[in-house]
Amino acid sequence: MVHIISYAAKSDKGLVRQNNQDAFHVSLEHGVVVVADGMGGHQAGEIASQVAIEAIKSDLEQDHWEAEGDEMQTLLKLGSAVEKANRLIRSASSGRPELQGMGTTIVAGLFRLGRVFLAHVGDSRIYRLRGNKLQQITNDHSLVQQLLDAGTFKTEQEAAQAGIGSNVLTRALGIEDQVEVDVTDELLEAGDVFLFCSDGLTSMLPDNDIERLVNHYYPDLEAAVERLVVGALSSGGLDNITVVMAQPEIEGK
Ligand code: CA
Repeated sequence: MVHIISYAAKSDKGLVRQNNQDAFHVSLEHGVVVVADGMGGHQAGEIASQVAIEAIKSDLEQDHWEAEGDEMQTLLKLGSAVEKANRLIRSASSGRPELQGMGTTIVAGLFRLGRVFLAHVGDSRIYRLRGNKLQQITNDHSLVQQLLDAGTFKTEQEAAQAGIGSNVLTRALGIEDQVEVDVTDELLEAGDVFLFCSDGLTSMLPDNDIERLVNHYYPDLEAAVERLVVGALSSGGLDNITVVMAQPEIEGK
């Protein structure tokens, strides 16, 4: 059984960074999409994002639980897969000073049972395109977002003028022994498309540009992803850029 009908994905190191510390994974068969944005010097960031993705693959892509898991079990499974990723990053860096402090964001989507199950930590994002409307369905775990939520600043620009960098995270995998994972799920509707990305896209392109581009190229996901990456590059490409778009199968319809 295939849970994702079509998808497109691209990761680009951008124009400034030496390495690409982002990583992604898609499984049509298992209905899994993961994007991770690693951080840490030398090779550490790449290792952290890769370890996270491998941990989630090995937990979610097992046929035996897929046959039985109901909605609650799926949500718990997804949350515990992300917690396991956190532990594996911690143990990968222990005893290796060069990897100390490495971490990663994560956004993970699992499409099954006519629903999308979502987990995230950090400032990578998931958007849903429904009709012509693109909506962000994750809430960044960043200092800027925290201050916006608290009403300290009204816009990201205001925060930036006050010297609050957009890259300060309040949560990431690999930083502490315990991590709080946001998990949620929602019903799929026919025609829904989901966009998973690292902040290398969203720090370069405002949401209304992203919405305009995906609507322009829909249903050609390949062209949309390509154009989004080009858009981020031509706006400066200051960070690694990863974009995955996926159209789920609407089961039972
Ligand atoms: Ca990044």
